[in-house]
Amino acid sequence: MATYTPMIQQYLSVKAQAQDAFLFFRLGDFYEMFFDDALLASKELEITLTGREGGVEEKIPMCGVPYHSAENYIHRLIEKGYKVAICEQVEDPAAAKGVVRREIVRVVTPGTVMEGKTVGERANNYLMCVTERDGLMAVASCDLSTGELYVTSAPASKEWLRDEVGIYDPSEVIGDEALLDWIREQAAPLGKAIVFTPWDKGKDEAGRQQFGEAAWIRLESERRECIALLVGYLAETQKRSLGQLTKISAYEPEQYMILDPFTRRNLELVETVRERSKKGSLLWLLDRTETSMGARLLRRWIDKPLLQRSRIEERLEAVDALYNGFILREDLRQSLLEIYDLERLTGRIAFGSANGRDLIALKASLRQVPAIKELCAASPSSTLRAIAADMDDCGDLAQLIETAIADEPPVSVRDGGVIKGGFHARLDELRLAGTNGKRWIAELEAAERQATGIKSLKIGYNKVFGYYIEVTKSNLSALPEGRYERKQTLANAERFVTPELKEKETLILEAEEQMADLEYRLFNEIREQIAAEIERLQRLAEKIAEIDVLRSLAVVASEGGFVKPVLTDGYNLVVEQGRHPVVESVMKDTAFISNGTELKREEASILLITGPNMAGKSTYMRQVALISILAQIGSFVPAARAEIPLVDRIFTRIGAADDLIGGQSTFMVEMADIQVMTEKATSRSLIIIDELGRGTSTSEGMAIAQAVIEYVHDHIGCKALVSTHFHELAHLENSLSGLRNYRMAVQESGDKVHFLRKLVPGAADTSYGIYCARLAGLPGGIIERAYGLLQGFEQAAAAVTAGSLDEVQAAAAAAGETVGNVATVQAAEAQSEAVRRVAEEAQARAEQVG
Ligand code: ADP
Repeated sequence: MATYTPMIQQYLSVKAQAQDAFLFFRLGDFYEMFFDDALLASKELEITLTGREGGVEEKIPMCGVPYHSAENYIHRLIEKGYKVAICEQVEDPAAAKGVVRREIVRVVTPGTVMEGKTVGERANNYLMCVTERDGLMAVASCDLSTGELYVTSAPASKEWLRDEVGIYDPSEVIGDEALLDWIREQAAPLGKAIVFTPWDKGKDEAGRQQFGEAAWIRLESERRECIALLVGYLAETQKRSLGQLTKISAYEPEQYMILDPFTRRNLELVETVRERSKKGSLLWLLDRTETSMGARLLRRWIDKPLLQRSRIEERLEAVDALYNGFILREDLRQSLLEIYDLERLTGRIAFGSANGRDLIALKASLRQVPAIKELCAASPSSTLRAIAADMDDCGDLAQLIETAIADEPPVSVRDGGVIKGGFHARLDELRLAGTNGKRWIAELEAAERQATGIKSLKIGYNKVFGYYIEVTKSNLSALPEGRYERKQTLANAERFVTPELKEKETLILEAEEQMADLEYRLFNEIREQIAAEIERLQRLAEKIAEIDVLRSLAVVASEGGFVKPVLTDGYNLVVEQGRHPVVESVMKDTAFISNGTELKREEASILLITGPNMAGKSTYMRQVALISILAQIGSFVPAARAEIPLVDRIFTRIGAADDLIGGQSTFMVEMADIQVMTEKATSRSLIIIDELGRGTSTSEGMAIAQAVIEYVHDHIGCKALVSTHFHELAHLENSLSGLRNYRMAVQESGDKVHFLRKLVPGAADTSYGIYCARLAGLPGGIIERAYGLLQGFEQAAAAVTAGSLDEVQAAAAAAGETVGNVATVQAAEAQSEAVRRVAEEAQARAEQVG
């Protein structure tokens, strides 16, 4: 180390404080990176790698990015999941003895970005902290760009933790290392890029100071500890006050419907399974919001469907009024359209990174508020009226900006032009002096031309030499001796100064500098004045967002022909003419076929749905889940009538997610999900299982399917939709009083099967597997043989039900022996295997009884 130059030594000591980040080391107009950082950054950012003398023999690898375009490079690194530590000069180079002092002023991490692409406008960006102490887990999630902070805790359970991570979809997770490892394992198959930082530093006192004594003591100790860690991490990385964090939103897990990450994905709530795009998801369908805050709030509503009937009904009441009030809806839209992202604007104001344009955007937004407030106050909805009554339009802040900030300020806040004339007397004086000075220069130019007779003489300005008089070489002879002092020689001109120009220059430049400094100071004062009112602005933003979302739901309901659901505290779920809202919305040529649903305690709590592939089974089952979710977020639902009981949890086990789980076998995943389901489901849950028992041998699959269905029926008693291609399971209707067989109707005409997409009572009498084989063009001989074999198996199965072991064995053996055709070997084996297993089971049971 001793051999390095002092600057490199300084670099290394700063770098030691930011091992896990790229260090952007400020040198003049560049941020430079050295050593390994430089090697990696040059690859990641595709910038040229150079070298620098550093006191040792070999040159030190170096690469850099210009200071003024650094933002872009920083965000590219963040998007790739890196952190960037920004190191600035913290003393005036002119005053420095030796190497200028440099310090890290901020560490940008994926969870703490304030702007740029990473913080998608219409989505939140969360930093999450997870802890576990004494059997309790706590989770705190913070969006620094909007100032939101949520906290909750529960008895330690990894599934619960996984579900919370699923809700917030964080870009960065900090906290207990063991929990981070577990989340990493869970997130990997979902393809989520999360940055993990083990973190255990945080002081209770810091949290208390940030949020105030009253809010702090109300929190449970595990939640306090978790937030304290989060605040500790933010302090360490952001190194500045976090005025936007004003409020802690604490909630209990029981307040919301529980949806595990797979269910979220299966139901395509916020993104599609295949493309992972918003387009095609429920969020996409529902998002007709006009503001970014509204879009983010809508997503939060979808992430957390409510369980409290009164709260749902408040939302529904407002949606209803907006649904019926086309004009109200349109008027609100006009105003909402003009509103910028208040949450992020206020976030930047508090963070100290807002510029003049941000304040103008804030003003323009605030100007819309009175109209919105009035519209809501006059609306027939008591929910909207309550929002209006509680709405502070922050008119004083709009007025402050109006009087202080220029209407079209420049991007930079340091070079002047931000403050309006008439706002500050001294500034006006300086400006006048500046303008006068410039006029004086113009007059001098005219006078000098006259005096010298040189028409091309001009007065110019540059940063290095200041003001100068420029005369082309050919005119030099016309310049009188004496008064003109040569300053700079160009190829075909000379530049001069005169004593009077020099004197005026000093005055003009001083005035300009003073002006810029004063403007900057004034701007900061105004920004701070607004920052002091941050809580008011945040509350206002929440209200606007809520109105926006309610309106959006009404628009979708109106355009999609939805109805207001009736929510009940009971058990039964009744939907007439229900539709899958997203599938319906993307269907072009054909109409979506509606289907009703009746799930009733004891009579029909489980629907066992059979039917060929492509018949519409999984669409139907998802539709029921989506209708429940829609109702519980306060939305209308796609149906003619709907009576919806509050559902505490939806489980889905749907094939589509299988392809996502690289490595793990489909069957293992299915079983693990079902295990969680058996443990967590209550009688108020809704279970959806598509193709239960797939992924293992037919016999085992069927056996497990039956056992699971029986368990759900006898022990959980919740509502369930189960589809299966084992039409043999239809007999369960006889033994389970709450199970009903349904099938997706098909019309067979000659060789063709026509999908009617209608749910009708009764089981399908075949799986249509052989039919599919025929469609695929298998030779007629094979098809005939297969039908023949099938008949044999079915007789065997019937024998099982009848209970005679000998008959079963005989039938099974016969089935096994008669297999001769290659094309049907596999199917036949599976079938005979099934029969054998069932027979064994029957024997085991008989023995037990005996
Ligand atoms: P299954 O689960 O039985 O294999 P799907 O539910 O995947 O069948 O449905 C297959 C296709 O049929 C879907 O992609 C959809 O386009 C169409 N479909 C499903 N249900 C309906 C319906 N009720 N009305 C119109 N088309 C439907």
